[in-house]
Amino acid sequence: DLRHGGHGEDLELPVPIGTSVRDEEGRLVADLLEPGQRVLVARGGKGGRGNASFVSPNRRAPTFAEQGEYGEESMLRLELKMLADAALIGYPNAGKSTLISRVSAAKPKIADYPFTTLVPNLGVVSVGERELVLADIPGLIEGAAAGKGLGHEFLRHTERARALVVLLDPSPLQTDPPMRQLEVLISELAEHDPALAARPRVVVLSKAELVTEDEITSLGLDDDIMSVSALTGIGLDD
Ligand code: GDP
Ligand code: MG
Repeated sequence: DLRHGGHGEDLELPVPIGTSVRDEEGRLVADLLEPGQRVLVARGGKGGRGNASFVSPNRRAPTFAEQGEYGEESMLRLELKMLADAALIGYPNAGKSTLISRVSAAKPKIADYPFTTLVPNLGVVSVGERELVLADIPGLIEGAAAGKGLGHEFLRHTERARALVVLLDPSPLQTDPPMRQLEVLISELAEHDPALAARPRVVVLSKAELVTEDEITSLGLDDDIMSVSALTGIGLDD
């Protein structure tokens, strides 16, 4: 009869926004940045032609049909980079998770030991009529770009943030003073990707209730540095 082989069924894989698709050699195949964006990564095989296509003057009723093609096959790597408006970066224990939990509805794990944040958290912060997405990036430590700590794996998540919030911790429990933290963080970013070090950033001093105004001034940071305390709410309204 007049039929041909069926097309294979479409396999559609929903992925989060910010997913990039790479082939086995690491080449970028697609970057899914828009809601509803679709991309064809492997074409299915065509259905085989039915026997009617093979009718000819001397072959009136062919008893054979064509075998359908196989679909394209490939190994692909899906990588999710977050799309955040701002990424919070800072030393382990700087107070990133606490801060994001205070300014958004995100409920990150908080503890006084490093690397409690194993998965980057996204928080939606409402500022008047506007909403912005803040990403809580796990602690960066010196050498993160070279693979030390957990920073390396997560630095790529900061690549797509439009701005960086650098959180410095004045607590005496930190091994480095705030000024040094800033230097280390910026050099880690630069080592990972020079564009990151050039990204617009605000520098914020955390745990503001632990230090006096005079102490903040004597830290030698820029005058326009903001200080916040997630515990007492200092500075959170600004
Ligand atoms: P993260 O590693 O940067 O995510 O830091 P966390 O948010 O997990 O906080 C590390 C520790 O600092 C926890 O014990 C928090 O309770 C404490 N902490 C966070 N914010 C403040 C603050 O504003 N003041 C004080 N004194 N401690 C804070
Ligand atoms: Mg944390």
